[in-house]
Amino acid sequence: MNEPTDQQRRELAAARHDMLSHQLLDRGVDAPDVLRAIAAVPREAFVPEPLWHEAYSDRALSIDCAQTISQPYIVGLMTQAVAPQGHEHVLDVGTGSGYQAAVLSRLARDVITIERHAPLSAAARRVIEALSYTNIEFVVGDGSLGWPAAAPYDAIVVAAAAPRCPPALFEQLAEGGRICLPVDTEHGQRLQVIRKVDGRARVRWLCDVRFVPLVGAQGKQHDD
Ligand code: SAH
Repeated sequence: MNEPTDQQRRELAAARHDMLSHQLLDRGVDAPDVLRAIAAVPREAFVPEPLWHEAYSDRALSIDCAQTISQPYIVGLMTQAVAPQGHEHVLDVGTGSGYQAAVLSRLARDVITIERHAPLSAAARRVIEALSYTNIEFVVGDGSLGWPAAAPYDAIVVAAAAPRCPPALFEQLAEGGRICLPVDTEHGQRLQVIRKVDGRARVRWLCDVRFVPLVGAQGKQHDD
């Protein structure tokens, strides 16, 4: 991984600052701990070098294996929706670039992040190690089944769309835990937030979104 020059670093820091106020705060992602976490993570480290100048653009960007790193606003919105507390244990489904896992790791005790494409998981691990974040564990596998070995989780964030919340994920959620995931509806994909209260799902909806499909046993069978 190349390092930005001092000049590039200054430009990226300014772009990160603008992103926080215009893309997040102005649109209601205003929880101070979430903003601090996002301010602390250099998004450019998670995108290919030719896209550094786009690292803080208001959109998703392409990464390897035909996947994407989510738009900063959506990362902020999902993080705020599950509101990880400092002592909590979090599952991140769809590691991709590792950016969402990095943001969650600044707010939680630890994060398990699961990805079906081994090369993406390996690349994300290299970035996270270079940043010296030590509370993220990488797993390669089908995240539609969650990761029972480390359950229960206080918060689960899913970065790929399923026909409905996979039952395995709800089972692995602790009492009082929160899941945020994109779900296919007849009107297109929408972000859903589920809280487990007395073992039951309390559901609310946030906004329309566009994510890649959750490909797996409790997701979709294919990439299309
Ligand atoms: N959170 C990521 C966004 C990645 S896009 C980031 O911050 O960059 C969603 C990712 O979910 C893709 O990398 C895709 O390969 C992965 N994915 C899709 N279905 C999956 C499954 N069943 N288990 C694990 N990962 C899955």
